[in-house]
Amino acid sequence: MSNHLEQTLVLFKPDALQRGLVGEILTRFERVGLRIVATKMLAPDHQHYYKHYEEIGTLKTRAGDKIFDITLQMMSAGPVIAMVFEGVEAVALVRKMVGATEPKSSAPGTIRGDYSHMSYGYADDAEKGIPNLIHASGDPAEAEKEINHWFSGDEMFDYQALHEKFTR
Ligand code: ADP
Repeated sequence: MSNHLEQTLVLFKPDALQRGLVGEILTRFERVGLRIVATKMLAPDHQHYYKHYEEIGTLKTRAGDKIFDITLQMMSAGPVIAMVFEGVEAVALVRKMVGATEPKSSAPGTIRGDYSHMSYGYADDAEKGIPNLIHASGDPAEAEKEINHWFSGDEMFDYQALHEKFTR
């Protein structure tokens, strides 16, 4: 793979599934020319999320026990759809499309900015996790760890998308 080509992990969180927004959001990723490399629907246990959010994502260390527990509770409220996308500098591209963590601050045009509006202040007062629809890997090193955590090699597929003549 050229060193500009990257793979990144995307999770459609329980709120995206329960709101029926998976198709609409997936269309955005396909439209920019990202290629789906892997996908599955699953309801991971606490241990799987612990590894994802703390051992890889350091959320407990960064945000504290309370926010960590609330986030895991929110992620366990229903199944998620996990996907790996590939494209030119795909990690930063997908983060740009997803927008800031706090929906209140995420720009219009981003997924979080267009489909949610909750603030940190409200979530903290209500002791709720922030249902912001999508998880996306933060940087290429994190993406590699996350992809290995969520998918095995035989769940990843290689094929040529016709648009790649123009998109990469
Ligand atoms: P991101 O998902 O944008 O990479 P983080 O890794 O910091 O952000 O946080 C992981 C997830 O935990 C967020 O997407 C959000 O769902 C939840 N979260 C983070 N901070 C808070 C908070 N202060 N209150 C409630 N939920 C939070």
